This record gives sequence, C-alpha cells and structure tokens, in this order.
Amino acid sequence: MQNTLLILGNGFDLECGLKSSFTEFFNACIKDKVSILKEYGDHKVEADGFWQALLYIYEWKYNQNDYNWFDIEDIIKNTLLNVFIENLNKKSFYEQAKYDIINDVNNDYNMRKVGMDEYIKSYCKPFIVRKCGYKNKFANYEEIKKDFAIDLLFQLKILENQFCKYMNGQLVKKEIIGGQSTFKKNEVYFSKAVKLLNNLVPMIKDKHGDMFISILNFNYTYPINNELKCKIINVHGQLCNKICSQNAICLDSNIIFGIDDTVISDSKDGIIKNDIKIFSKTYRTLLMSNNAQKILPSKGSKLVIKFFGHSLNKADYSYFQSIFDYYDIYNNSNVSLEFIYNGEERKNSSTERVYNLISDYGAKFTNKDQGKNLMHKLLLEKRISINSLAY
Ligand SMILES: [Zn+2]
Repeated sequence: MQNTLLILGNGFDLECGLKSSFTEFFNACIKDKVSILKEYGDHKVEADGFWQALLYIYEWKYNQNDYNWFDIEDIIKNTLLNVFIENLNKKSFYEQAKYDIINDVNNDYNMRKVGMDEYIKSYCKPFIVRKCGYKNKFANYEEIKKDFAIDLLFQLKILENQFCKYMNGQLVKKEIIGGQSTFKKNEVYFSKAVKLLNNLVPMIKDKHGDMFISILNFNYTYPINNELKCKIINVHGQLCNKICSQNAICLDSNIIFGIDDTVISDSKDGIIKNDIKIFSKTYRTLLMSNNAQKILPSKGSKLVIKFFGHSLNKADYSYFQSIFDYYDIYNNSNVSLEFIYNGEERKNSSTERVYNLISDYGAKFTNKDQGKNLMHKLLLEKRISINSLAY
C-alpha cells in the first residue's frame, strides 16, 4: 500500500483552463480599469483600497507584464518591510512619518510623479495624523502602528475579495433560460480537473482498497467531486461559495495573499518582525494545526509526496519544510518525493527549483553534514524524481 500526498499549485488550475494567474487577474481588474487620479477625464474608476492602488503604480512605474503569484506576494512583503521594519541603514516609513509629524516637517507628495514609496508615505502619514493630530509628542505611537498594520490587512482583504469575485466569474456561468437567469457551474473546468487529478493519482472510488490520498491545494478552488476518494485542504483558503461575481463586492472569501512565515521568523538580520506577523500566511491559516494534520496521511506507511504545478518559490517554503519535518524525510525511507511538470515547463528549470528547495531545507538542519548530504541521500535511495506529466 502506498499513500499519496498531492501538492497542487496554480499550474493545476491553469492546466484546467482557468485564467487564474495574477497577471490575468491584474489585466482584467486593475490595469486600464483603475486610476489613482480621477482627473484624467477617462473612464477609469478610482483604485479600490491601498493595495490595488499600489499594484497599479507598480505596473505604471515598472511596466511589469509578467506578474505571477510570487510577484504580488513579493510586493506585499517589500511594502510591509519598508513600512514597519527598522534597520541600521534605513528608518521605516512609519518612523519617518512619526518624525515628520512631531517635528512639523511638510511633505509634498507629488501624485503626478508618484512612485511606490511616495504613495505608501502619502497613505501612512495622514493615517497617523487622523489618529493623533499634528505635533503630538505624547501619542501612543506603538498602538497607532498596530492599528496601521490592521488597516493594511483590512485593505488586503479588499484585494482578496476582488480576486474571489474574479475567479467565481469563471467558475459559475450565468445562463438565461426562458427569461429566467440561472447559474451553472463551469463544467469544463470541473471535468478537466477530475481527469487531471486521476492522471496524477488514480483515485476513482473502489479502484483501490485502503489507499489514502490527501491533497494540499495552493489554489483557492475546490476541484474534486464525490467520484473521487480523497481529502483536500485549501492551504490559503477557498473562494466563497456564493455567486459573488454578480455582486458589487465579495464579502465572504477566506482566501489569503500574504508573506511566508520564514520572512518573519528569519532572524539572520537580528530584527524582530512582530509588527508584520499578522500578514504571515501560516499565521493566518491553520495548516499545521491538529485539525489540518488529520488530513495528512500517516507517518508509518509508504508515502509519495507529489508536486504538480507549483513553482516552488520561497514564498511557500515554510509549508514544504513543515511537511518534510513532519515526515522526517531525511531518515524516513518510507517517504519519497515526486515532482511532476507539464509539457510546457522545461525539465531543466524544474530540476533547478527542486534542487533549491531541497538544499534550502538541508541548510536548516542542525546536523550540517546531514543537511549537505540530503539531496545525495534521496537520489541514492531513489526517493526523489522529476517526471513529465504523462497523458
Ligand atoms: Zn466571493
């Protein structure tokens, strides 16, 4: 008997025909749709919330056309580090704004030439002023800083809800039958998804006895149906199950854009990053709680951990590393890893990403020799493989 833990990234939904990349969301909902200055006389609407405006400026400034999930989470991370985290060379934006308020320094943020930093500062300073007024030396700036982080998190929720609405627009189709509008599931996506899942791990009911299949889905979709015998968890939350694509705004999604826990707990720079802890994806989910561990296959049996469609970027390392820890992949010869790429990806780039993931994990071992030896050991014991998707 061999259990499977299947890890799905955005490549899975893309393969099933969804326009679920961040670029597609950005192009459909932000680019050419919003503006940060209404006076252009065009048909754009004002950006909805801090993050939408910031992404708009980012694209405007850098003309980035190839956003992927890593980019947006990278933008979130860099913004939060700039706003909240002090280091030896640089005052945080929050501390700069506080200094300017206390010392009555006038800032003239030119919104026509606005860059990301200017925009962030032009958002931060008025927030503090609203809370405590000008020149207030004795305000509780630590409390206000916490409130500011909560505000930015609230603003992020707006972007997450916009994404939910965008995705649900693809998953549920409106049909008008006899003058009545009804909503139908996008059957093309669901049938492709079921087919692809069965291709990755045969899991039609009754085909196997007591084999155990779990899916950790990094997408926000829920691609399984009753036919399939498996358990699934949406690592970063799930789209709402309402027809939010028809409403002005989704109020109900629990999807999460955020920063990886390793960014916060990384103490190499000696800086404690408590201020941005609330943005941590692991902090915001309960993946490694007891509840989530119930869905993981048991440690004692043979297990293959399969990855498909995941770019294995650093932003998600902490999940993979907790899983590797949980199964003790160094010593546990029952566990093997299989990375599956589809035809469009190149084997070379997949290999490089796998190599980076494993060596970064090894570098965290207390026993440094074991850490260096990890990849070699996995190869030698034939417990790691990189294969192309077979149709
Ligand atoms: Zn929704």
